[in-house]
Amino acid sequence: MSFDALGLAPSLLQALASQKYLKPYPIQEKAIPAVLRRKDVLGIAKTGSGKTASYVLPILTNLEGRIMDKSRFISVLVLVPTRELAIQVNEVFHDFGSELPDMVRSMAVYGGVSINPQMKALYGVNVLVATPGRLLELVESKAVQLSAVEVLVLDEADKMLNLGFKEEMNRIFELLPARRQNLLFSATLSNDVKEINQFLLNDPEVIEVKAVEENIDQISQLAYFVPQEKKGPLLRYLIKENNIRHVLVFTSTVQKADNVTNKLRKNGIDAEAIHSKKGQNTRIEALSDFKRGRLRVLVATDLLARGIDIEFLPYVINYDLPRSPKDYVHRIGRTGRADAKGDAISFITPEDQHHFKVIQKKMGKPVTMIDSENIDLKGY
Ligand code: AMP
Repeated sequence: MSFDALGLAPSLLQALASQKYLKPYPIQEKAIPAVLRRKDVLGIAKTGSGKTASYVLPILTNLEGRIMDKSRFISVLVLVPTRELAIQVNEVFHDFGSELPDMVRSMAVYGGVSINPQMKALYGVNVLVATPGRLLELVESKAVQLSAVEVLVLDEADKMLNLGFKEEMNRIFELLPARRQNLLFSATLSNDVKEINQFLLNDPEVIEVKAVEENIDQISQLAYFVPQEKKGPLLRYLIKENNIRHVLVFTSTVQKADNVTNKLRKNGIDAEAIHSKKGQNTRIEALSDFKRGRLRVLVATDLLARGIDIEFLPYVINYDLPRSPKDYVHRIGRTGRADAKGDAISFITPEDQHHFKVIQKKMGKPVTMIDSENIDLKGY
């Protein structure tokens, strides 16, 4: 199956080719035709499955050729749980939307940053990607009108509910016109999600797919046996000796993320940390620099790394091993996406050894371990 057969706008096909989307992922194969037919869709899929493009591309195709008057009435509303996801989804709308002859204007809004610039910029926006709380604030201040929304997307619905957005979501639903298309994406079908599904969706097309990242076959995994105090020198050795230009490093705590970053910088390696204690703007900037290849090392904790989505990231390093095997797979799944090859390296201290065996067993794959004792780390 190729993208050509799915009925997308021709200008999007060109954009897909230039962004190296060679063939549709399973969720795209199924969701794109359904969304084009303006069906409601329930997609059980995680980040990594290609779900974003599965709704962005057909929504843009359906908007094509429409006269977009400039106003505060938006046509498409995408609700997301976090700022990171809001930014990411908006980028996908922007990357593809700018290829259409009549440019579709999209924008991301989220809390934690000043509201005034968002209020001003909202005029003339057609597609809005928003976190629920900030959206309601913007509605209250009349910066945006929801009464002409034609398509509602709930992305990572389970996470939105887990984060306690249920009440806000219900308030938003009440502001939407009754006739509209609803697309609901969730990693799991929890009772809460089922409830929304029943209440919101009208005879939906149900699509369930496994995340692409769960296929870890194209990722080459390696572990280094290393005492805790040698982890820093080993990290610098690996980055410098292998001339690694782009790497995501995971630590277990915020403090460690800062320490690792500072040490790398002192050794002339460009690095930035993102974690919950960093200001919103700093996080956005670091992530954006890293995505664009302007930052060599991004050091992150699990929580913040969830939303990181970078194509062709060649290296992931587990400076600290995660607690759950699921997190391990999720972390290494950051690399080797979109059929690219990736390297995942884990640092294993004597205390981690047993736990790492459990991870390998759960994953069903043994990982070669190199003893760092045999590496000359002097000078690092
Ligand atoms: P998502 O699940 O939407 O977060 O997408 C996961 C990753 O896969 C993103 O980096 C996308 O850019 C990439 N991607 C999505 N669809 C395709 C495709 N058909 N071919 C190649 N890469 C894709």
